[in-house]
Amino acid sequence: NKQVVLKNYVTGYPKESDMQIITSSIKLKIPEGTQNAVLLKNLYFSCDPYMQGRMTKLDTPSFAPSFQPGDGYGVVKILDSTHPNYKKGDLARGFTGWEEYTLAVDPQALIKIEQTDLPLSYYTGILGMPGVTAYAGFYELCSPKKGEYFYVLAASGAVGQIVGQLAKLLGCYAVGSAGSKEKVDLLKNNFRFDETFNYKEEPDLDAALKRYFPEGIDIYFENVGGKMLDAVLLNMRIRGRIAVCGMISQNNQEKPEGVHNLASVIGKRIRMEGFLADDFYQLYPKFLETVIPYIKQGKIVSVEDVAEGLESGPTSLVGLFFGRNVGKQLLVVYRE
Ligand code: NDP
Repeated sequence: NKQVVLKNYVTGYPKESDMQIITSSIKLKIPEGTQNAVLLKNLYFSCDPYMQGRMTKLDTPSFAPSFQPGDGYGVVKILDSTHPNYKKGDLARGFTGWEEYTLAVDPQALIKIEQTDLPLSYYTGILGMPGVTAYAGFYELCSPKKGEYFYVLAASGAVGQIVGQLAKLLGCYAVGSAGSKEKVDLLKNNFRFDETFNYKEEPDLDAALKRYFPEGIDIYFENVGGKMLDAVLLNMRIRGRIAVCGMISQNNQEKPEGVHNLASVIGKRIRMEGFLADDFYQLYPKFLETVIPYIKQGKIVSVEDVAEGLESGPTSLVGLFFGRNVGKQLLVVYRE
């Protein structure tokens, strides 16, 4: 059983050498007398920015418990079961080990996949945690209305690409930024943003936003933080909304950058609210009901960056923090 395990707690940017691949033997059978257990074959793993936080030895409590070697979110197939809710051959998504096979007793963090006529890898992205994050952040926090001015960064990534397409479907004017020409082309051609730009080519972010939003921004979906948040605050409209999903530019900073323009929220009466996907799992059935027809009608598309094999795990995970992923980063271990 090949596994990815944590070798060192991470400080600053995670490195490939903080993880290692080990192999151990496992019997592909649930041990005699073990009740409520499932033996999982891990098919797809999701690579997510939050995993870096779990690899850090924290002195202060975090929203996520610290990393257990081998932890990850993925799509699994049930090979064997003594659990009343699962039978051999079922598919599920949720927390599992970063390894080929996992024995899970009382698997609370698994949800059965009922709809299997879409690519299973989608359950790591557009139909999984990033999807529900985009959906809940946009509809529950942003109070969006047709015709409003919407902005998102890391726009070609797992969450950004979905939230941008939801904004377009509602009739917002959507601008997306990303960090390379290839990604910017995706924003325009695949995700149909109205305007797009490479933020790395803009020496003055405030001036760039004034160019793309002469009337200001109604909704900012925050994925990045730091300098961009500062520039956005100067360009928000009165009663604008900011859904704070993540601040990846600050994840690896020992001393996070200060935000200088926060006082704008007062005069402009901006509503700025942080959230976690976990807060909205009750929305998941409604989210699937909304998004699956959109996917089937071609109204929402998913772009994935698929790495092959567990051996690619460390490189794929680290790549998120250097913008190497083009689309939702995932790892395929077995295709079924
Ligand atoms: P992505 O697929 O967008 O991958 C990360 C991307 O972030 C990179 O490709 C890169 O894109 C961008 N990036 C990385 N480092 C920096 C940096 N220093 N400055 C600016 N941009 C950077 O990841 P996700 O869609 O999975 O996550 C997006 C955000 O949402 C993250 O902040 C994440 O933590 C957060 N999140 C929060 C959740 C919640 O429950 N609140 C759930 C899921 C995600 P580019 O090349 O375009 O710069």
